[in-house]
This record gives sequence, structure tokens and C-alpha cells, in this order.
Amino acid sequence: MQPGTSVEQELSRRILWFIHLRWLAAAGTLATLLFGNLVLKLGAPFVPLLGLVAFLALYNLVCQLVATGTRLHDSPGSVRRSSLFANLQIALDLIALTLLLHYSGGAENPFAFYFIFHIIIASILLSPRATYLQSLLAIVLFNGMAVAEGTGLIPHIHLRNFLPAELNGTVYVLALQAVFTTTVAISVYMATSITRRLREHERAVLSLSVQLAGQNDKLREAFDMLSYTQSLQTQYMRKVSHELRSPLAAIESMLTLVAQKVVTEEMKRQELVERSLNRIRGLLRMVNDLLILLRSRNVTLPEQFQPVDLQTVADKVLDLLTSRAQSQRVTLEADLQPGLSPVFGDAEGVEQLLTNLLSNGIKYTPEGGRVQLRVSQEEEKLKVEVSDTGIGIDPEDLSRVFNEFYRSNGARHFNPVGTGLGLSIVKSIVESHQGSIDVESVNGKGTTFRVLLPAAPQPTLHTPQTRSAIQTKTNESDSPLNKS
Ligand code: ATP
Ligand code: MG
Repeated sequence: MQPGTSVEQELSRRILWFIHLRWLAAAGTLATLLFGNLVLKLGAPFVPLLGLVAFLALYNLVCQLVATGTRLHDSPGSVRRSSLFANLQIALDLIALTLLLHYSGGAENPFAFYFIFHIIIASILLSPRATYLQSLLAIVLFNGMAVAEGTGLIPHIHLRNFLPAELNGTVYVLALQAVFTTTVAISVYMATSITRRLREHERAVLSLSVQLAGQNDKLREAFDMLSYTQSLQTQYMRKVSHELRSPLAAIESMLTLVAQKVVTEEMKRQELVERSLNRIRGLLRMVNDLLILLRSRNVTLPEQFQPVDLQTVADKVLDLLTSRAQSQRVTLEADLQPGLSPVFGDAEGVEQLLTNLLSNGIKYTPEGGRVQLRVSQEEEKLKVEVSDTGIGIDPEDLSRVFNEFYRSNGARHFNPVGTGLGLSIVKSIVESHQGSIDVESVNGKGTTFRVLLPAAPQPTLHTPQTRSAIQTKTNESDSPLNKS
């Protein structure tokens, strides 16, 4: 049991309650003593009884100080210490009660049945075994006192004006002892069985509440996650709507001018329609990129991954981009390490990744510049690097380039066309492949994007599909890379 649990705190609370009860008992004893001696004139020895009440109050004070001063339930082994403390108190109470009885009529005193209270208290505070032992102590103390008084071992103090005759040593006292013993025995049995059942319930409730607390935490986590996802979705929809709204508003106002014949000059009308068409093309590009982004986030499950030969994909992409690079007078180069393992992934995704990184390089590199693709292998990973000698990225913009729709001012100025979705798509593809991406850039000098992708597991190298991929790779002289 861990320290400071509710079970231990409960035990400490009950011990304190027991101590408070003893203050009442001490006050009650004093009141009874005064009433018996002063009003009923019973003639009980005043000094020893008063001494006993003082003793009771004194040790209760010590108990109170111990219980409140030392936080019993806050240290390891506290259950054992608390039980010992409770055992000691009950034993002292039993002795004090026996002494009180001895000085006020012995077995003749009907307060003897107050022993039962201690049995009930013991069953609440202690284990069943300890309760039985305390009950045994009560039986021994009461019978010991009765026998010792009956045999003259200790003096018997008869109370005046209470019983008509002295009962000490009579059959009646013997019967009283028998009834007392059986009452204590039956009480202890009943009290311990009831408290055992109660404790079982208590334990069940406690474990249930612990379980419920655990479930509650999980539910709260799930709810937080759901709220977070929902807020992301809302943010995303707001962003998309905002990005779609400005070109649509521009198209609407330009076409209104044409439709309402505000602009009558044919040349101007033609120009407005042309500009609207450009905006529509931009919108189409954006919608297309959004669809690609959504697809890259949903479709590629690792079960659908296959070995993808990078040389084949690079050849295809470079083939497509070479003319664009040439028209911008940018040199496009490739350097793929021979004997590369295939990437374990989605071929279309890898193609999209290379296309976006290389087209960014071409797009943001001024005439006469160079864009280079390098692929090498680092143990189980393939390192894809795309570097350019372009405009570079400001250090404060570096962390934002992977955000949807983000375009730096420098980039907008250098090339106004763009949706700001290309690198979000790249990032999403890298994440779905359990890879990583980072970027290094020097403003005005150039940028390098570095991607790590997992290599396909070894055994798949022997499948016919991969073998053909390797053949393509070795046939490097035919590569369109050499054309650039
Ligand atoms: P598109 O969605 O049409 O590709 P984009 O190229 O502006 O538009 P991303 O590819 O997502 O969008 O790039 C985001 C931003 O990152 C760019 O606008 C630019 O500011 C910066 N960036 C990306 N690649 C480079 C690069 N090679 N050199 C300089 N800046 C770059
Ligand atoms: Mg781009």
C-alpha cells in the first residue's frame, strides 16, 4: 500500500475520532463519580478514582499530541504504525476500565458492559485478529479482577446504597462472569464479521474509483485531442476560404466591369478577361494542390508501401522539369550515388516530393543559377538533397515555409505565382513515410532542403519488380539527367 492513500488517511481520521470519544468518556466518568459519591452517596474511594480519571485524561492528551503532531498517514509504513498506536490505546483503555471497576464495586458494577464499546471500536480500527486479541484481554482482565477479588487476592470495594448485599465471590458473580465472557465473545464475532464485509466493500469502491479516475483521465485526453483537432480543422477551413476568397473577389469585380459594360474599350475588356483567366488558373492550381495535400495526408498507409527506385523517379521528374529550367536559364544537375537501395514508400508521393523541391529550386533561382539533386545512402536511410543558388530564405521565415499558404515577401516579389502549398505537401509526404526534412539557407546565396527517407527492407531486393528497378538504375548513360 502506498503512503498517503485514502485508506491510511481514513485510519488516521478514525484514530482522531477515537481520541475525541475518550475525552467524552473521561468527562462522563468524572460526572458519574461526582454524582455517585455526592448525590447517591455510594462511598467509592474518591482519590484513586479521580487519579484514574486524571490518568485517562493525561494519556489521551499524549495520544492527541502524537496523532495531530506526527502526520501518521504521510510516511511509509504508516498503516503498521497507526495500527500499533490504536492497539496500544485500546489496551490502555481496557486496563483503565478494569481499574475503574475495581475501585467501584468490581464485578458488581454494571459499567462492566462498557467493555463491549471497546470491542466495537477495536473492530473498526484494527484487523480481525487484533480485535480478537483485545477481546481476550478484556475477558482476562474482567475475570482476573473478579477472581482476584473473590479469592481475596486483592481487596473488594463494595459500594454502599447500590446493591442490598455484597455479591463478591457468589454464584451470581460467577454467572455474571460467564455472561460477560459470552457477551464479549459474541460481540467480537459479530463486530468483526460486519466490519470485514464493510472493508471488502470499501476496497471494492476504492479500486472502482481508481479505475474510474483512470478512465476519466483517458476520456479527458480524448476530448482534448478532439477539441484540438476540431480547432485545427476550423483554422484550416478559415485559411482555405480566405485564400479562395481574394482571387474570386478579384475575378468577380473584373468580370462585373465587363458584364455591366462599364469598360467599353475592346482592348481593356480583353485585358480584364485575360487577367480573370489568370486568376482562375491560379485558383485551379490551388484547388489541385489542396487535393494533392489531402491525398498525401490520407491515402499512404504503410501497408501500401513498396520499394521505390529513386533513379527511375528522378529520371521522370527531371525529364519534366528540364525544359522549365532551360527556359529560365537555370542549370539542373543530378548526382545519384550508384547502388542505392530503393525507398520504402509510395511512388507517386516520392515523385511529388522531388517535383515540388526541384520546381521550388528552379522557381526561386535567378538566371545563370544552378539547381542540384543529390541522393546518397546512410545505412537504412536515403538522403535526398535539393540545393540551389537562388534568392535564399530569411532566417525568420525558415520555420514558416512548411505552413500551408505561406509565401515569403521575397518569394512573392521574385515570382508572384504560387499557392504556398508545395512545401506543406512535401512535409506531409515525408511524415507519412516516417522520414524527416530540414532546410538550410543563406539569404541571397541559396537554399538546401535535406530529406531522409527509409530504405526498403533487404529481402524485397530479390523480387522481380525490384530487380528491374536496379537494372534501370545501372543504365545511367540513358538518364535524362545528363540532358540538363
Ligand atoms: P506553390 O504552392 O505554387 O509551390 P510556393 O512555391 O510559394 O507556391 P511552397 O513551395 O510551399 O510555396 O514554398 C513556400 C515558401 O517557401 C515560398 O513561397 C518561399 O518563400 C519559400 N521557399 C521554398 N523553397 C524555396 C527556395 N528553394 N528558395 C527560396 N525560398 C523558397
Ligand atoms: Mg513551391
